[in-house]
Amino acid sequence: MQNSYQVIIVGAGPAGLASSLTLSTYNIPHCIVDANTNSVLKLGDSLPPNAKPLLKQLGILHLLISPEHIPYYGNKSIWGTNEVHQKEFIEGVYGSGFLLDRLHFENQLRGLVKKNRTDFYQGYQLKKVYNHEQFVEALIQKDTESLHLKAKFIIDATGRKASVCRHLGVLKHNLDTQFTVSFWHQTAKKIPRQIWIEATENGWWYLSPKATNEVNCMFFTLKDLLPSRKEMFTFLTKELQKTQDIKTIIQPTDIEFNDYKIMASGTSCLEKPFGENWLAVGDAAFSYDPISSYGITSALASGFYGGHAIAARLKDEEDAFITYRYIIENGAKSYLNKLEHQYNMEQRWPKSFYWKNRLKQVSLV
Ligand SMILES: Cc1cc2nc3c(=O)[nH]c(=O)nc-3n(C[C@H](O)[C@H](O)[C@H](O)COP(=O)(O)OP(=O)(O)OC[C@H]3O[C@@H](n4cnc5c(N)ncnc54)[C@H](O)[C@@H]3O)c2cc1C
Repeated sequence: MQNSYQVIIVGAGPAGLASSLTLSTYNIPHCIVDANTNSVLKLGDSLPPNAKPLLKQLGILHLLISPEHIPYYGNKSIWGTNEVHQKEFIEGVYGSGFLLDRLHFENQLRGLVKKNRTDFYQGYQLKKVYNHEQFVEALIQKDTESLHLKAKFIIDATGRKASVCRHLGVLKHNLDTQFTVSFWHQTAKKIPRQIWIEATENGWWYLSPKATNEVNCMFFTLKDLLPSRKEMFTFLTKELQKTQDIKTIIQPTDIEFNDYKIMASGTSCLEKPFGENWLAVGDAAFSYDPISSYGITSALASGFYGGHAIAARLKDEEDAFITYRYIIENGAKSYLNKLEHQYNMEQRWPKSFYWKNRLKQVSLV
């Protein structure tokens, strides 16, 4: 592999892979770097029906026709009232959404990038970024091997951590402190292919069924409400008992409850999504609250528009990055309005720490 390119993409999640596919349509010499040798399982799998036109533009719509990804037909929620709301996608113009097998989806995208013969540094971690005036230089490392890559532009597609930007000294602001506790549960029988969402006093639950009888269960709350590791089992058991509907669908065993993961899942954004020779895409640029089910779509979209923006800059179109920023910021504004509306709909627990602070944080934005 050479070490000099027009563009270095750091991060091979949906955003970085979509950037690479877009740059390849212009035959722009670039490489992609990811810390993991193979794709790793990431949480969050719902792709809403209105993502389909974007996937078509990216030439990846056919990837959904695979037994690993399951069509889903709507959301069932208890939010704002004690009534169960059923939203059927079938009523909309795009038909069903998809519950993605994330590992398989990223392997499919990696396969397309490799088919384009793009240089792929798998298992290499970004260690440093040097911003020279005419070019950028990235130091990447795998075990004891270090490589210096040079390019005109670097794309930060490293997800929530925004590692490239961190090296460049660009700040990422957390707009709230939402965290997720996630675990897997094996149901006794198959449950309908839909997402379940239910608000409770201290946060909200989210269930997403897989092609097998497995369900990914998540509880979203604020950092201040998270118990210590020792108290987590009791906390989750109590929070599940407070639900109306969710507790009738899942009855996790002690082992399932105890095999949990905790991760940040709030809204965060960079102070700016581009600089003279860098651009941020996906979660690195703007991280969405999973209530929006917009993270994967936005990662693919910003990879797509970011790739086009770089192609335009390479043709000396000076304002290409400004147009890109406009797209990112407009999407973020519309999302923040919807987010505020969504959380304002829930008024059943006016004294609860979660809902009081959730609303305060959203309205501060
Ligand atoms: C709990 C939870 C539930 C979610 N549910 C949904 C959902 O239902 N629907 C939805 O659309 N979205 C959901 N999301 C959001 C979605 O998962 C993300 O928005 C999406 O993965 C962002 O893609 P990305 O490519 O920007 O980043 P990522 O997918 O995070 O990819 C970043 C890549 O960069 C690599 N990397 C990071 N640092 C370095 C480094 N220093 N050197 C080299 N490589 C590096 C990583 O290995 C990784 O492969 C959810 C998120 C969470 C936390």
